[in-house]
Amino acid sequence: MKNLRTISQTIEPQTAIEGAGVRLLRSFGPKTSNLYDPFLLFDHFAFNDPLEGPLRGFPYHPHRGIETVTYMLEGSTAHRDSIGNEGLIGPGDVQWMSSGRGIMHEEMPRRGESGNIYGFQLWVNLPSHLKMSEPRYQEVTSSTIPTYEKDGVKIRVVAGTADNITGPVTDISGSPLYMDVELAPGIDWQFPIPEEHTLITYIFQGEGVFSGQTIDSPKMLKFADGDHITVKTENNPVRFMLIAGAPFREPIVPYGPFVMNTIEEIQQTLKELRNGTFIKEI
Ligand code: FE
Repeated sequence: MKNLRTISQTIEPQTAIEGAGVRLLRSFGPKTSNLYDPFLLFDHFAFNDPLEGPLRGFPYHPHRGIETVTYMLEGSTAHRDSIGNEGLIGPGDVQWMSSGRGIMHEEMPRRGESGNIYGFQLWVNLPSHLKMSEPRYQEVTSSTIPTYEKDGVKIRVVAGTADNITGPVTDISGSPLYMDVELAPGIDWQFPIPEEHTLITYIFQGEGVFSGQTIDSPKMLKFADGDHITVKTENNPVRFMLIAGAPFREPIVPYGPFVMNTIEEIQQTLKELRNGTFIKEI
């Protein structure tokens, strides 16, 4: 490891309103510029204020052309979809959904014992040849996510492989590495990332020195090319999601919950929604 990845962009997450009035912190959303290819969106739901009143969620809505990975830390999300799945994603659980050509689903967050709801949703693009594939879905419970701790570094591998440990979510087209990393105070950690991969990190607790720059939370960082990053902690611990993957390098046209490659494909999607053929028979 000799080529350090420096920070190329520091993003201050912005409050966004989605679904039926849900407030969340958005680091980025789908745009034709596709700066985070193969990643399209990163949202942090954190409703920790009891004064917000009754919880509203994300009532029935469609998706096409993307994969979503929901990782809950506190509270839970009740969900059901048009391919017959229904369940509850609890603390530490992960739900992976590949919309392919079309899925309709509902996602309703619920408070945990602490009164908090805390979690992340990552959207990963689908390559053009899989945009119209069959919708698929996987739910992974907390206990099946490998966690390892060594020299003050605690890592949960949700997807991909780190230090020969492979996470349980394995069928995402972008083959991303997605892990929850926690460093105790006074740690100096370095981690290899393949040169050609996009690398972003979402710092959500504490603060740390990322490739030489002190960063507090919450922040999303994008890194320049290189073969590794370094993270150091001083007096405080830090916790972040590390997200890396190979870009598809294809043009994208996002429109709300759909991400396709051309405007014609978006028009076709809207036409199918209008004439009731969006959800295909399996
Ligand atoms: Fe959704």
